[in-house]
Amino acid sequence: MSKFLSKKYEGLIPYTPGEQPRDNVFIKLNTNESPFPPSQKAVEACEAVLKRVNLYSDPDCRELKKAVAASYGVPEKCIVCSNGSDEVLSWAFTAFCDEGRAGIFPDVTYGFYPVFAAQSGVPYKVVPLKDDLTMDIDRMKAEEGTLFIANPNAPTGIALGAAVIEDVVRSRPDRVVVVDEAYVDFGAESVVPLISKYDNLLVTQTFSKSRSMAGARLGLGLGSEALIRDLETIRCSINPYNVGSMAQAMGIGALLDCEYTSGNIREIIENRAYASSALKALGFEMTDSSANFLFVRHPDVGGEEIYRKLREKNVLVRHFSQPERIKEYNRITVGSIDQMKALIKALAEIV
Ligand code: PMP
Repeated sequence: MSKFLSKKYEGLIPYTPGEQPRDNVFIKLNTNESPFPPSQKAVEACEAVLKRVNLYSDPDCRELKKAVAASYGVPEKCIVCSNGSDEVLSWAFTAFCDEGRAGIFPDVTYGFYPVFAAQSGVPYKVVPLKDDLTMDIDRMKAEEGTLFIANPNAPTGIALGAAVIEDVVRSRPDRVVVVDEAYVDFGAESVVPLISKYDNLLVTQTFSKSRSMAGARLGLGLGSEALIRDLETIRCSINPYNVGSMAQAMGIGALLDCEYTSGNIREIIENRAYASSALKALGFEMTDSSANFLFVRHPDVGGEEIYRKLREKNVLVRHFSQPERIKEYNRITVGSIDQMKALIKALAEIV
């Protein structure tokens, strides 16, 4: 820390992203990326704008919003585009939390939420998951603040039905509910159709997972016109050119290629079924995942040991030592079938 750092950031502990090794030694199953390349249409659209990056990107993402509006069936004024969904989530903490309205989220969820709260200088409160690692919806509902619900949740992969989320949104119209749908395409029900009905619902989505664009950095916020205007105010007060021309073009290309995306999603779901039964045959226990990852533990071998031994065999998964009650688990991205076979082979040697 330099002597110049603002007092307000002295205690800030940043988020630790999953390891991103730059060589190809590892079978990389640690950050829930897609094993498939981006759509050819996305690549071509990107190439077409490359020679025009001397000009700023469109700060309003007009063409991209048109494509999103057509694909999601929502008005353009109900969409905000962000540099990955992390960015829109961080704006949501800034815009919709304050001293009187803490950010409320489960104790086991996306580890960036407490960091967003700290960075925005707003309080937060965690609501423990139940013993079976499902969300304690009644306790969440009883809270006063702004709710952040990842659906499916991460790292558990457990999904809530749209009706359950609608009930939470409806229960308190004076409180914003943010539903983080980063993994929704792999088997959960989206609540995007509800944004026209509830002005306190904000949904965030990403192009990083099912659309194979993690490195391009593109996310979305979908909500009522008024909520989106609030987020636009924050966005334009920090960086109006937050989404580069290449990411905007790629997003449009990816949305035009929905068959490619849905084929990839189908394959991930099949590979998830394959991997979970093979893991169960090796004695692993796991949560019921609707996401592109599995959250697993073994009754005889510790979580940290499995992580370490897999790493020695060049298979990278994600291990969280905090909170304590998930330390025996590892979160494993569902990749290609060859990656899943290599994973199972390595784990068979370990357990
Ligand atoms: N939400 C959840 C639950 C996530 O796991 C992630 C990424 N790992 C994100 C949001 C953010 O993803 P991105 O910024 O790539 O859209």
